[in-house]
Amino acid sequence: MKTIQEIDVYERHEFLCDCCGKIHVMPVGEVCIEAGAARKLPDYVQKLGLGKKGVLITDEVIYQSLGKTIYEGWQAAGLDVALYVLTGRVVPNEAAIGLVTCHVPFDADYLISIGGGTVTDIVRYVATVPPPMEMR
Ligand SMILES: [Zn+2]
Repeated sequence: MKTIQEIDVYERHEFLCDCCGKIHVMPVGEVCIEAGAARKLPDYVQKLGLGKKGVLITDEVIYQSLGKTIYEGWQAAGLDVALYVLTGRVVPNEAAIGLVTCHVPFDADYLISIGGGTVTDIVRYVATVPPPMEMR
């Protein structure tokens, strides 16, 4: 296993963290940073085998400014993506995590976030923390 100093963060990897002593994993293996990158999502969903049903989570500011256009583009491309828009001032707390969790169908295959760091952090938490046994 490589250390954090030895990895290329843009490649699929795992490393033993010098800070917390845990093994961190970056399973996706590809980062795309470029103008119009969001339009490539349907290709990545297929390429990475993420499944059929996705859920986009965003907030109303992002949705109105650019999320709606991106979302409609994905739908036009045939991507099966549900939508949940957080409203009001979004705070990264238990209530927001509960709202997102309650709006993700049990049969969702993958989650997508568009936003600032708050929405992305909330979605990342919901996507990675297993639900209680009775919800599985
Ligand atoms: Zn760590």
